[in-house]
Amino acid sequence: MKMTPELKKAQENMQPGVITADGFLGDEKRSLKDIIVRDEEEMRKYGLDYEETAELLRELLEEGRKGLGEAVTVKERWLVQTFESRGPLPCPFEDGIFKKVTAEITDKKSGEKILVSDMAIHMMEAHRFLEGIGSPFRLDPELLKKVVF
Ligand SMILES: [Zn+2]
Repeated sequence: MKMTPELKKAQENMQPGVITADGFLGDEKRSLKDIIVRDEEEMRKYGLDYEETAELLRELLEEGRKGLGEAVTVKERWLVQTFESRGPLPCPFEDGIFKKVTAEITDKKSGEKILVSDMAIHMMEAHRFLEGIGSPFRLDPELLKKVVF
């Protein structure tokens, strides 16, 4: 599928060693556009809405931050532990700078967990990008369905 100049630039910024050591694409070799289109289908398949999911993840991350590094139980269902490191993290789509905040969200009932970062939530919401398969911060729709809905 056709890539706009903005998507091409974003894909360059997502390569390992440009913004982060591991990059954002995981093991994927396909174009950013194709990744986004594939994930839109996945989100539809699991009945997930980008804005609604991002809002819930942000709420869990913010609640987790109150633990200042200790795991916090949120709404009796999730265990959320956050990690923060110094330094700004620019979005690969070049529209903002984010804090390096990561939350490990565990569904206490199933034991399933997902790793979520402030940046990943932003990219889901603003760019419909969930990171490539193989990236540790990928917001995999099937896993999201299990862990947060
Ligand atoms: Zn962005």
